[in-house]
Amino acid sequence: MQTRFTTEQLADRDIAASEPILRKCVHCGFCTATCPTYVLLGDELDGPRGRIYLIKDMLENSRPATREVVRHLDRCLSCLACMTTCPSGVHYQHLIDHARGYIERTYRRPWRERVLRALLAKVLPYPRRLRIAVAAAAALHGAARRLPALAERLERRAPASWRAMARLAAYDAPPRAAPESRAGAVSRSRGRVALLAGCAQSVLTPRTEAACVRLIERAGFETVVIDGCCGALVHHLGRATETRTFAAALLERIAAERRRGGLSAVIVDASGCGTHLKDFGHLFRDDPELAESARELSGLTRDITEWLDELERAQPSPATEASDRASAPHGVTVAYHSACSMQHGQRLDPIPRRLLERAGFEVREIPDGHLCCGSAGTYNILQPQLAAELRERKLANIRGTGARLVATGNVGCIVQLAGAGIPVVHTAELLDWSAGGPAPM
Ligand code: SF4
Ligand code: SF4
Repeated sequence: MQTRFTTEQLADRDIAASEPILRKCVHCGFCTATCPTYVLLGDELDGPRGRIYLIKDMLENSRPATREVVRHLDRCLSCLACMTTCPSGVHYQHLIDHARGYIERTYRRPWRERVLRALLAKVLPYPRRLRIAVAAAAALHGAARRLPALAERLERRAPASWRAMARLAAYDAPPRAAPESRAGAVSRSRGRVALLAGCAQSVLTPRTEAACVRLIERAGFETVVIDGCCGALVHHLGRATETRTFAAALLERIAAERRRGGLSAVIVDASGCGTHLKDFGHLFRDDPELAESARELSGLTRDITEWLDELERAQPSPATEASDRASAPHGVTVAYHSACSMQHGQRLDPIPRRLLERAGFEVREIPDGHLCCGSAGTYNILQPQLAAELRERKLANIRGTGARLVATGNVGCIVQLAGAGIPVVHTAELLDWSAGGPAPM
C-alpha cells in the first residue's frame, strides 16, 4: 500500500513504526474472512482491511479521530486472527495499538464512556480494588435474589455495559489460598524462575497460580511469584502513560529478582499478559534506559505450557513421568479453547493440546476455534452485544463437542465462558491434576 507521510510526520516514533506496516498491506482481503467482527457484521470497515484504511487515512492527514473511525476501531477485539491469516506479514497489532493511543489523545468520548473506561483502568489492574468490586457485586447479587422485582427493573434500565460488568464481577471466584508448594519432597536444584501473579487473575482464578507453582516445583525449580499488573489491560484501552508506568514497574521488580538470585525464565499463565510481555521490546524500543532490559524480558517470557514443553523436550522431568503414571484424568474429555492471545498473539497453538493429550486427556477440537470468545481484555464490558454474540457462538460450538469440560490458557476466557453449565478451567490445573494435584472441579 502506498503511503504519503511527510518527513515531518515520520519524525514521530509511532508514525515511523506504523508506516512500514501500512506499506506491507497489499489489500488482498484474506484477513477479512477470519475477522470475528467482519463475520458478525459483514461491514468492510469492521474488518482488518477496512480498519487499516481508516488508520492510514487518519494518520496521513494528521486528523483527530472522528466518531465513525472510533466506532469501527473500538469494535476491533485485538484478537489478532488477521495477523495469523495475513500472507504479507502485516503487523496489525502494532498498528491498532498505535491507533488506540492516537484516539485517546485526539478524541473526546461521551461522558458515560469516559467514566466507564476510567473505572476499568482504575479498578481492574489493582487486585485489592478488584477484590472489593467483586465482593460488592456478590452482595448486590444476593440482594437482587431477595428483591427480584426491583432487581429486574434496575437491570432493564442499566446500560448494557454496566450489566455486562455486573455479570463478570459476579464471577464466582474461589477464595485465594497461599500458593504454597504441594509438590512433595522434591529437589529445587534445577534453577529459579519467576511466575507472574498478574492482577485480575490473582483475584478471579487464584487456583491457576497455585497449580502453576506445583507444576514448576515438581519439575525441580524454585518459584518466585512476582506481583503486579503488566499493563496489558490499560494498553488495550489506549492509555499510553499508564501502560508504560505498569510495564516499567514490572521490569524493575523482575530486574531486582534477577540481581538477587538469577532467573532462567519468566513464566506467565495468562496468555493475554504473555503476549504483552513478549512485546515489551517494542514498547520500550526507544527508551535508552529500559530498551535492553525490556528486550531481555521479552526473550525470557514463556507461557506456562510453552515452558513445560521446552523442559520436557530438553529432558523428561519427574512431572512428566508422574503424568504418565497418573490415572485420575485418564480419558476425561476436554474441549480445548485456544485463547486468541495464545494462538494468534504467541502462536503456541499445538502445545497445550499436546501436553493435555500426553497427560491422559481426550482433547476435542472446537469448530471455528480461530474465532474469539468475546472476552478480549475489557471488550466484553465495552462492546457487550458483540461480545455476547461471540460467547454464544463459542458455547454452542463447545457443547457440540460433547466434552466434559473446557480448558483454556487465559483468565479472560475462563470468566467469559463461565456460567454456561460446563466447567471452564486453566490448562495448568488439568496438568497439575494429572501429576497428582487436586481435581479442579
Ligand atoms: S484483531 Fe481481530 S477483530 Fe481486530 S481486525 Fe484483526 S481479526 Fe478483526
Ligand atoms: S491479509 Fe494482510 S495484506 Fe491482505 S488485506 Fe489483510 S492485512 Fe492487508
